[in-house]
Amino acid sequence: NSSLTSRLDNDSKKLPIYQHKASLQQAVKDNSFLVVTGETGSGKTTQLPQYLHQAGFWRDGRIGVTQPRRVAAITVAQRVSQEMRCSLGREVGYQVRFDDCTTEDTVVKYMTDGCLLREILADPVLSQYSVIVLDEAHERSLNTDILLGLLKQTISPTDKASKGRSVPLKVVVMSATLETDKLSVFLGGCPVFTIPGRTFPVISRFGCAIGQKDTESTVYLKEVVKVALDVHTCEMSGDILVFLTGQSEIEKACDMLYEKAESIDYRYDVQDRTVEGLLILPLYGSMPTDQQKQIFQPPPPGIRKCVVATNIAATSLTIDGIKYIVDSGFVKQLNHNSRVGMDILEVVPISKSEAQQRAGRAGRTSAGKCFRIYNQEFWEKCMPDYTVPEIQRTSLTSVILTLKCLGVHDVIRFPYLDRPEERFIMEALKQLYQCDAIDRRGKVTLLGGLMVEFPLPPGLTRALLQAATLGCEDLLLPVAAMLSVENIFIRPGHPAKQKEADEKHRMLAAQAGSCNDFTILLSVFEKCKASDDPSAWCKAHYIHWRALKSAFSVEAQLREILLRLRQRDFPMEKFDGNKSELFRRCLCAGYFTNVARRYCFEGFEKLFDQEGQLDWVIFHDVLATSRVYIRTVCPIRYDWVKDLLPKLHEVDVYDLSSVARQEVTDEEMAKWETKEA
Ligand code: ADP
Ligand code: MG
Repeated sequence: NSSLTSRLDNDSKKLPIYQHKASLQQAVKDNSFLVVTGETGSGKTTQLPQYLHQAGFWRDGRIGVTQPRRVAAITVAQRVSQEMRCSLGREVGYQVRFDDCTTEDTVVKYMTDGCLLREILADPVLSQYSVIVLDEAHERSLNTDILLGLLKQTISPTDKASKGRSVPLKVVVMSATLETDKLSVFLGGCPVFTIPGRTFPVISRFGCAIGQKDTESTVYLKEVVKVALDVHTCEMSGDILVFLTGQSEIEKACDMLYEKAESIDYRYDVQDRTVEGLLILPLYGSMPTDQQKQIFQPPPPGIRKCVVATNIAATSLTIDGIKYIVDSGFVKQLNHNSRVGMDILEVVPISKSEAQQRAGRAGRTSAGKCFRIYNQEFWEKCMPDYTVPEIQRTSLTSVILTLKCLGVHDVIRFPYLDRPEERFIMEALKQLYQCDAIDRRGKVTLLGGLMVEFPLPPGLTRALLQAATLGCEDLLLPVAAMLSVENIFIRPGHPAKQKEADEKHRMLAAQAGSCNDFTILLSVFEKCKASDDPSAWCKAHYIHWRALKSAFSVEAQLREILLRLRQRDFPMEKFDGNKSELFRRCLCAGYFTNVARRYCFEGFEKLFDQEGQLDWVIFHDVLATSRVYIRTVCPIRYDWVKDLLPKLHEVDVYDLSSVARQEVTDEEMAKWETKEA
């Protein structure tokens, strides 16, 4: 172990940031706000918090470091705990949604930006912390952007609001790329500390397979696999990093690579080199952390590592030894669609700047190559110059509720680094009103105050609270938990096994006695929980045991939140009716904004159920690849949502634009009501 730690020591001393340790420590001491920028891999994320620790900041409170991605928070904390020679969860810990690995001893805490936002709700001046490091600010995640505004406006060290603190809070914002001037101006002209980078040239080549019209995932998947194999057989030594868009696609690509790679003769001589083999490693957000560790380990001698990753490998995680990039040109992105009023998960072309960032990953330690599978026309016509910040393209419902709960009533003039369109803010307010989180004056309701406590999407939270109100939370808690973990159904990929898995999954659905996906989730949860050997049960039914295990833990945590809230003023109602209807009605309360009706061609109506019982559904979310899918669906009766639907059209709010600026006073309200009458 001592050889490991001395190796870690040596490694960290070689990082570009090391030479600037003392001046960075001083800069944080001297300034309330500091922007730190440097190439990906220069050591910002892993080293700077340690420098602050060594400088003694921990004596005044924790050093909190936010990450937009949970995987990054976890793996980086693991790494830093090794470097600091302590066990994870002691001096160095992490917290991500539903997984808190910190103790009283924790002084360096990595966490997701969402976690810090929730902490502010409970402790607005962040009294636990001496320094907050907002990392990966260039990613422009919604939560980081909101944190930036909050830290600037309300928790700013110079602000009166920080009176509850013993020492002023220090804020460090770290970013990999250029926007640092903008950040500095935003933070009142604070200094920018630039860590000089060293990078090597990367030659990028366009492919010819993917052009303007090829957005079908099967096309680009095949091409990505082919190019990766070409690199493996034709290029000099060096590891490969492949960029794809998501878990299922990555698993598919790994299977394809594995099958094809096996048929390659690895004793194949190319210009005096022996290509021995290919180590194929997937990397995506919801992966088990023990598997993630492998990503960072150097491959065995003579073996080439091939990491197949989502965008997480573009800036959040640096993998050493990468010399070749295979870029699919696509990314999975959550985009708000105003026409349907909801966020849609879409596979879209990446931006040009993102493509450059991806290519750059090949030039960390020596010159590298980037193989783009798309052609120049695709680059010019399909790829935007920059990625639009999340705050300008996703639903603001949750964050606006958080802001309102924090007492930020003027959500229009809130300091946004990039302002979202006003109609997005209005839409969020409308949705909050529709699900009874704010009243017609823009004031947070009892229900809204409860909703904000749950780290779940608004619709799901509303459904859960509806169930709790009716005393049947046992139906919804497992469902909420199952929807918060990764996909529980195993898709083996292998055709024979796939058939067997499909069979088992169909059987599970039949046992649930329903064609309602929510009931199936509930039934799988309960069946597994009740079985003598849950892990064996999962294996036999092609269910991810690990995912289900986290669902059990999430369910317990949600139950705890609910228990805590029950001690407050908690609404209760009665319901007479059967369990299945009760369940589905609770879902409707939350998901009435996600209603779909089966499309009927004129004259074919009679094929459907006479009372319109079968053709109405509510659904959890929408995925758009080459087609649009609604996912996790439940048939409902039209009359259950009939009374709720008008709410979607007529907004009975005083005046949205006033509500967006302040809470409406009694007088204004009275005036409005007389006018209305
Ligand atoms: P930056 O934040 O500036 O992009 P990092 O601090 O993330 O840089 O990375 C610095 C170095 O630490 C890189 O060489 C990277 O490979 C290494 N590193 C980071 N995390 C791990 C890990 N979990 N295991 C092994 N090496 C890691
Ligand atoms: Mg970093």
